[in-house]
Amino acid sequence: MKNDSTQSHKEAILTAGLTKRFAEVLAVDSLDLRVRPGEIYGFLGRNGAGKTTTIRMLLGLIRPTRGRVELFGKDVGTERASAVAASGSLVESSTFYPSLTVTENLEIQRRLTGSTHSDLKEAVALLGLGDLVRRRAGRLSLGNKQRLALARALLHRPRLLILDEPSNGLDPAGIVEIRKLLRRLADENGVTVFISSHILGEIRQLADRIGIIHRGKLIEELDMRKADIGSTVRWEARVSEPSRAAVLLREKAPGYQITSEGDGALVISSNTHDKAMVDSGLISRVLVGGGFELRALIPEEEDLEKRFLRLTGGES
Ligand code: ATP
Repeated sequence: MKNDSTQSHKEAILTAGLTKRFAEVLAVDSLDLRVRPGEIYGFLGRNGAGKTTTIRMLLGLIRPTRGRVELFGKDVGTERASAVAASGSLVESSTFYPSLTVTENLEIQRRLTGSTHSDLKEAVALLGLGDLVRRRAGRLSLGNKQRLALARALLHRPRLLILDEPSNGLDPAGIVEIRKLLRRLADENGVTVFISSHILGEIRQLADRIGIIHRGKLIEELDMRKADIGSTVRWEARVSEPSRAAVLLREKAPGYQITSEGDGALVISSNTHDKAMVDSGLISRVLVGGGFELRALIPEEEDLEKRFLRLTGGES
């Protein structure tokens, strides 16, 4: 599983203006993603946010309405076969031949990808499928089916793994095991991992970077390797006419993220994660100067969980 040094300067995944519309649903909206070789990128979003649609476009399984995808510098739209050859994937509904055994299912993939017998053995060992090799795929538990799907994805030693909610059906021990495996593949083999999930807790322990997708848009990217990512400071302003106040703040205090909580409060947070303090003096001057009644301006720590919920919670 060596990286091709001539390609190593290229992004493992690059999307530019990637968009998919299904009739009236804008499932993915102008997505610009850059995933670097060797990193684990967590693609986080609530149900229906657009994760699966994005992944299908990354793999060339559906055509974008607009925009393009490159994998290691190769355009998926114009040279799909060679672009996707370096990747292994696990998308939502993995299908197997139910009456064939685990080994037989993997053997089919081995031949399709021109992999060796030792590749097959290694994939079986990596996923702990040794005791199940003679079990029919149709008889496997959901968790073991996921393991088989991962073994199949890894069989040809891809440089890039694209996984759509791979923890589905796994018990907590299975989730930890898969997390360790992915970490090892990234650290020891330089494999790039793009993994989607709707569960922050699952992704935060694994990913080097997290991209949050909401209603088809990438609304935030977080670098988990930065020490101060854990929490950011936000201010809650209790103010008259919060919607109008938000408009004024967006104009007069650019660089801050302003959301209204619905109960008359505005949340003002810094777009950076370096704990840059929000300039509360400026906030109060703008609000009071604009004729609003400022009842309170309260600082609070916001952890990642709260932040994710706020950003994807449906507020404007
Ligand atoms: P989940 O975690 O629930 O799978 P997701 O983030 O993967 O969600 P998508 O499956 O990509 O989200 O769906 C994004 C939006 O696009 C949703 O509103 C969904 O209903 C819509 N959508 C997806 N596929 C189609 C399709 N083939 N036809 C019409 N609408 C679709």
